[in-house]
Amino acid sequence: MLTITDLETFYGPSQALFGVNLHVETGEMVALMGRNGMGKTTTIRSLFGLTPARRGRIEFEGRDLRRLPAFRIAQRGLGLVPEGRRCFPNLSVRENLVVTARPGPWDQGRVEALFPRLGQRRHQMADTLSGGEQQMLAIGRALMTNPRLLVLDEATEGLAPVIRREIWSALRRLKAEGQSTLIVDKSLGELLPVADRCTILEKGRTVWTGTPAALDAHLRDRYLGV
Ligand code: ATP
Repeated sequence: MLTITDLETFYGPSQALFGVNLHVETGEMVALMGRNGMGKTTTIRSLFGLTPARRGRIEFEGRDLRRLPAFRIAQRGLGLVPEGRRCFPNLSVRENLVVTARPGPWDQGRVEALFPRLGQRRHQMADTLSGGEQQMLAIGRALMTNPRLLVLDEATEGLAPVIRREIWSALRRLKAEGQSTLIVDKSLGELLPVADRCTILEKGRTVWTGTPAALDAHLRDRYLGV
């Protein structure tokens, strides 16, 4: 479904990615891992054309995404839950969901079934939600675009345990329903049991790809610092 090959990305003159390789098959959940500053967010920004890559290939469903503007990439079927849960603060929960809607199986009712809190707070302004509820809304907004590939950047960071459990349970459900997903998350305890494969970045390069079962203590210690 998605194949990223030898991706190189710069912020002005400073190079952040030196050769990222990444692959997601249809129906897979792939974890993009690595310590802080290793290039996970930059890889996602490059995938979505927000910080365009200078070299390399991004192929999604057999087509090259690399020179497309960000809005075209979303139209091709990629949905982003960005770091920092951006929602429209002055719109209601319902309005936040419907503004991103694109045709497909996901609609407001299905998002509310996945996250019942969003149904209970349908008419509340987004800025009155807790941080965790805003994160649910950010995921709901991405699902409303009916993405064939869902991409989550640190979707559970800094949230209360009860909310984190609800979000992980939703992510497991999405995976069981066959949603293809690329995910960055520091909660290895929740991430590894549900991920099909892991790709590790170190200093802007892919240094390891394998199954969670193959991610042994040596690799964790060397690349993840845990
Ligand atoms: P984190 O988990 O801390 O978000 P990350 O793995 O997502 O880390 P990136 O945010 O992609 O890492 O950062 C990769 C490199 O690019 C780092 O060296 C970082 O300092 C640099 N970088 C990130 N954003 C910018 C920017 N806006 N301008 C210049 N350099 C940047």
